[in-house]
This record gives sequence, C-alpha cells and structure tokens, in this order.
Amino acid sequence: MKKTAMSMVSVLVALSMTACGTASNTASQGTAESTSGSKYTPGSYTGESQGHGGNITVTADFTENAISNVSFDLSVETESIGQAAADTLKDEILKAQSADIDAVSGATETSDAVKRALQSAIDQAAASGSTASSDKAPLKDGTYTESATSFGFTGDMVGSVTIADGKISDIKITKETDSITGQWFKTAEKNLIPRIIESQSIGVDSISGATTSSGAIKKIVAEAIDEAGGNSNDWYETQEKSSEVKKLEGYDVIVVGLGGSGILSYCAAAKSGASVFGIEQAAAIGGNSASVYGPMVINSKNLAEKYNDGKDYIDADDVYKTWIDYVGTDEKADVIRKAVDESGSAVDYYMDNFGFEFDGMEGGLVGSFVRPDWDKEWTVYTADENNSKWYILGPDHTFQFDRAIEKAKAMNEKNDYMLELKGDELITDENDNVIGVRCTYYDGTTYEIYGKTVILATGGFVGNKEMMEEYLGHDVNVLGSTLDKGDGIKMGQSVGGSTYAMGTLPMIHVSQVPHIIRTDELTADQKAILSALALTTDAPEITINGEKWGGEDASGTDESTGLTVGIAYAPGFMYYTAWSQDDIDTIRTKGLSEATSKAEVNFIGNGGKLPAAGTPVEDIDKILSVGEDFKDVISGTPAEIAKEMNVDAETLAKSLGTTSDSSDKFYLVACSGWSYGTVGSLDIDANMNVLKKDGTPIENLFAVGQDSEGVCNADGKAYSPWGGQAQSWTFVSGKNAGENAAKVAKNK
Ligand SMILES: Cc1cc2nc3c(=O)[nH]c(=O)nc-3n(C[C@H](O)[C@H](O)[C@H](O)COP(=O)(O)OP(=O)(O)OC[C@H]3O[C@@H](n4cnc5c(N)ncnc54)[C@H](O)[C@@H]3O)c2cc1C
Repeated sequence: MKKTAMSMVSVLVALSMTACGTASNTASQGTAESTSGSKYTPGSYTGESQGHGGNITVTADFTENAISNVSFDLSVETESIGQAAADTLKDEILKAQSADIDAVSGATETSDAVKRALQSAIDQAAASGSTASSDKAPLKDGTYTESATSFGFTGDMVGSVTIADGKISDIKITKETDSITGQWFKTAEKNLIPRIIESQSIGVDSISGATTSSGAIKKIVAEAIDEAGGNSNDWYETQEKSSEVKKLEGYDVIVVGLGGSGILSYCAAAKSGASVFGIEQAAAIGGNSASVYGPMVINSKNLAEKYNDGKDYIDADDVYKTWIDYVGTDEKADVIRKAVDESGSAVDYYMDNFGFEFDGMEGGLVGSFVRPDWDKEWTVYTADENNSKWYILGPDHTFQFDRAIEKAKAMNEKNDYMLELKGDELITDENDNVIGVRCTYYDGTTYEIYGKTVILATGGFVGNKEMMEEYLGHDVNVLGSTLDKGDGIKMGQSVGGSTYAMGTLPMIHVSQVPHIIRTDELTADQKAILSALALTTDAPEITINGEKWGGEDASGTDESTGLTVGIAYAPGFMYYTAWSQDDIDTIRTKGLSEATSKAEVNFIGNGGKLPAAGTPVEDIDKILSVGEDFKDVISGTPAEIAKEMNVDAETLAKSLGTTSDSSDKFYLVACSGWSYGTVGSLDIDANMNVLKKDGTPIENLFAVGQDSEGVCNADGKAYSPWGGQAQSWTFVSGKNAGENAAKVAKNK
C-alpha cells in the first residue's frame, strides 16, 4: 500500500513552522514503511530550500525504485524566471531520476534551490531510512573561500569558512556589495553567522528583512562543506521551534512596525507619558525609512532659522490648494491641511526632543520635483556621525532612529521593544474591542502583548503579491522592503477598519531592467548597455499588452502637475523599448545614439560605464542574448514576440510599424518600475484613528505612515509628487498618533 507521507495539512504545518523567512531543507516525514531490497520507501516527501526570493519547496512522489512525480511551490520566485523554469526542471528531474540535473539558464538560483530541496526529499525516501543528518560525511579541516550571488548589484559576496575538528568553527564575509543599498546585510552578518555556528546547521531561519544576504551566506557555507568533502544537503537540519506562549501586559500603547512612522509614534507616545511596547519583524529598526533621502518640511522653524534667515520659505496655502486640486476632492481636506501645516512643526518637534538632524544636501532645503517655484520644499537627513556614509539610496541615518528610540525607551522603565518579532493579529475581547497584538518571535515563541491602544505602522503592502494584484492589478519589482506585506492593513480590516484609495499607484521613481543581472555572464559595462537600451528615451515604447506607450501620447505625464511619472501609469508598471534588426546593426557598427549613451543606468545598476555615443558596440549580440536568458529581452518576428508576450500579433505588429506576417527580426528590451512602497491604506481621520465603513473611529486603533498614506492621495493616480511627502507623513502621522494614543490610554 502506498503511503502518502506528506499530507497537504502537514505541508502547511511544515511551512508555517518556518514562517519567519526560514531557509530550511527538511520537511515533515510521515510514516514510511521500509521495503527491503528497494531503493526508496514509497511515499511523498517534501524538501525545502532557500531560493532567490525566499523558501521554495519540492514535493516528490516515490515508488520503491523511482521518482514518479515531482511538484514545486515556487511562489516566492520571480514569475518570469524562477517559476517559468518549473516545467523544465520537472522534466529534467524525472528523466535523471536524481537531483543531479543542469541548472536552467537564467534561473540558476531557483534551479540550485530545487536541487537542494529535491536531494532532501530523496534522502528522506531512501529505503535505508538513513536521514542525512545522522550520516554526515566527515569534513576535512581547513579554511575555504567561496562566493555566492547576493543582493548587491555590482558583485558576488565572498566569504571564508573555517572547518575545525570537522565542525563549522568560523564564517567571515570578506567581500560584499549588499550593504551599499542599506543596513540589511549587516543584520544577516550579525545574527545569522552565530546561529549557523551554534546549531551547526544551514537550515536555520534566514534573518527577516535580509533573506537574500542570508541565503548567500548559507550558500557560501554550503559550498565550503562540499569542498571539505562533505555533502551540504546533510547540513540543513531545521531547528525545533518553541511552542511557548508568553504574555506581556499592561502597556498603554503598542506599536506594530518600527520603521519611520512606528519609531516616531513610539517617541511621541513615550514623551506624552505612555508606557509603550514596539514590535518589529526585521532584525533592525528603520524599515524603508532607514534608506530615504528625507521629508517634505513646510516652514520648519528650525530649518528656516538655519537656512532661510528665520523666514517662512514656502506658501503653505499654495501647497494645500495644489494638493486638493491634485486629489480632486476635499473629502480628506482636514487631513491634508494637517499634512501641510504640521509637516514643518512635526519635524521641529523631533529635532527638539529626539535629536533628529537634517542637512544632507547643500543648503539643507531642497526644491520640489514638480514646482520649480517651490525652491525650498523638503530636506535630507544628516548622514552618519561623520556625515560621510551614504547608501546609494540615501544617507545612512539609522543612528538617528536608534538614538531616538533609545531616548524614548528610557522615558519609562516599562517601555520596551523587540526585534525579529512579527505582529500576526490583533487580540480582541468578547465585545470585539482591541486589547492587544499576538506575535511570533523568530524562535517560534508566541507573544501576546496586551495594551490599551494599538498603532499600526507596518509600511503598506508592496511585498504582498496577492494584495498588489487585488488592488493594483499587478505585482511590481520592489526597491524597498518586501517585509511590508499589508499586515497592518489586514489587522485594521479584521476589526472593521475601512480602506481608502487602495488603487493609488505605487511609489515609483526608478526604472531598470526587471531582472538585474547579478552574475558575471556580462561585464558591468555590458550590463550598462543593456540597461541603457531599456531606459533610453530614444526608442519606441510598447506596453505589456503590445500597444504603443509614452512618446507622442505622453501618457506618462500627469496633467495637473506636469510631472512625468510615466512608468507608474504603464500597465503592469513596465514597458518594452522596441529595436529593429537595423537598429541593432547600427549599434554594432556605429554605437549608441547620444540620448541612449546618456541614459541614467546606475541609480540602481551594476556600476558599469556606457561608451560614448558613436563607439561601435561589437558585442551587442552577446549582450542581447544574455539579456534574453534573463528574460530582459524578447527577440523574434512580430508573430514570435507576440506569442511570447501572449498578446495579439496584429496589435503588436502595428505598434512596431509593420505587419504580423513580417519576417523581420525585432528586439524588445524590458524596462520595469522599481517601487519604494504602496500608498493605498486604512481609512483614518485627522486624529489618525482608523475609521469603520460607517465613518466612525475605532477609538483605540491608529494607523500611520504607509498604513494610512491613502488619505493624502487618490485612486488611480500616482502618489502626491512634490517631493518628500511620504516621509513627511511619517512625522505628522507618527506625532499625532503617538500623542492621541497616549491620551486615549490615559482616559481608559
Ligand atoms: C529606497 C527608498 C527611498 C525613499 N526615499 C524617500 C524620500 O527621500 N522621501 C520620502 O518622502 N519618501 C521616500 N521613500 C518612501 C518612504 O520610505 C516611505 O514612505 C516611508 O519610509 C514609510 O514609512 P513607514 O513607517 O510607513 O514604513 P517603513 O519605514 O517601511 O516601516 C515599516 C516597518 O514595519 C515592519 N513590519 C512590517 N510588517 C510587520 C509585522 N507584521 N510585524 C512587525 N513589523 C512589521 C517592517 O519590517 C518595517 O520596519 C523612500 C523609500 C525607499 C524604499
């Protein structure tokens, strides 16, 4: 009788046990009868491993001597690369009857993860019943240097792993470029390495917020194990999760999410005399707010003093009126008035009380993106203590957040916060009143935190594919944190909270090819050329539906502001630039055009340089061919390309200026928006109280930052584009919510 060792329920249990971003390679193994003389114990076994975007699973069915079927959960992988490789991988595995298969070109990370997870399933099914962990091949002592592709755009991560007495005794990362984009690699280095060494396993959970860096560190260790004569598949034992439940009680204010708006709420609540508890899922505070340039500041007194002889520097009424015109309704006029009038004073409050500093760009006050006459409208955080450290996305100002939260924490001895603690759901009493938050710590411990008020500050929903598809019709590439998964919005909804302007377009300021090539299949300069072909203004643009986009239609220009917000309005937040074979031949012999050679390819790029206009690009075919492997390029006749894009061939051919039976070859190079975050949110009033559908406030529930940013915006439009508005809202909403929550708690 065939045993199904892994039921659907047990798959779910196994997955939920690793819910904090695990990268494990084990799975539940059900009852399995050993059949003497056979290769496998028949049944269905699941292995798990770290892919490109998180954990993937492979479930394989075994007869006594063969793998009879295999299926994958690759939902965390990039749809057009990792997921697209699934059919090929399945065929290869069934053909090879082992995990010894070639990686699918362009999907190496997913392929490697599938191979590791499959090997785990095979090990479990092996008829001897010997599990990998109990039967490890001995390791040869030594120090092994390995490399792995990680988050950094400009090179691999390199590390050295020391094996002593057959054990992993030291791991040092000697080269990485992950940390030029933010603090996240550091959290993986600090937290993951000791956990791997302590547990002697690479099956430990990845660090929340730094899963790609964690995956690279694990890969380096895995390669070292293999080089030392071991089999890294044997080193993925998962750690047993705690099933303990702990209660923390008696708080006035609980803040869920300690990015910018959460920290600022925490500070204001503490300063107002409340006892506060903060919950942060990542291994560091700051969220997306840690890597921003800075906030809008309408007439901050401190900054006026410093940079404008003490005088107001912008007409607040003009900003307000422009804003109301932009959203096209005065439904939220009181909130928008507050967003304008308090943007300067809220920043002053945090400068005066919590040591915030701004001056990161010359002059301290920066002009608006869209209104040249608003030449002083926003400001930039001061970078780290020496004013020297900048990420490519903004100044390193995490020290400012750290300093502020520590000061706030010290205001009441009960105040506290925890990292690697994920807020899961609101706790309610028998009358559906909010009385706390149920959370999970990375080690599995459940924490129930009880308090009088809750502030939701989880940063919107850009990391939640289902919500993106539901509210915006399409997922988007993310430049910010994918931990912002809409948890706050869902918590608010769970107690009757309503949403506002969920269809506001995601924040997109940056474009790049959708699949940034991090391997060395092309040089940095070659990658720059591929990016320039995607980003240039010098080629016709085609939507994902095969229609013409931009150019003369100027569909990407917002009429009320004149701002070219193009790609946020493009279907699927991406488009293709179109090149004929003649165009490519010209590039090969005569080089890039003036405009293409000046494309801004390195805001998020690989660090390469573009050749001057007119310099022949002899290797253009190689560049396009590797681009095609990575799904950044589609080539062929109009009919072939239309088939690949799944669009109407006539429509596409017309957009390309030809007919669908043409045998001419074209190249479409994909250009994708890279989003900072979402904007649509819970509905709130001017107190930052979450509103029910009937417009009444939930008295002790507040929402801040991206969890309430929708009220400043409008469905179907790009977010209010003047410059720094999103970050300004973290100050205004944080101060108001913190103070009002403290007030409500005091009266309870
Ligand atoms: C690269 C980049 C540059 C930007 N530059 C600017 C700029 O110059 N000016 C500007 O105005 N805006 C800018 N933005 C937008 C700005 O960052 C956001 O509007 C702002 O940071 C949002 O703050 P927040 O507190 O809502 O979210 P975040 O700062 O992202 O904080 C949310 C926090 O909640 C945590 N979290 C999520 N779910 C849970 C959970 N279930 N339990 C516990 N914790 C959870 C997250 O880990 C995170 O720490 C930029 C964004 C990015 C990504």
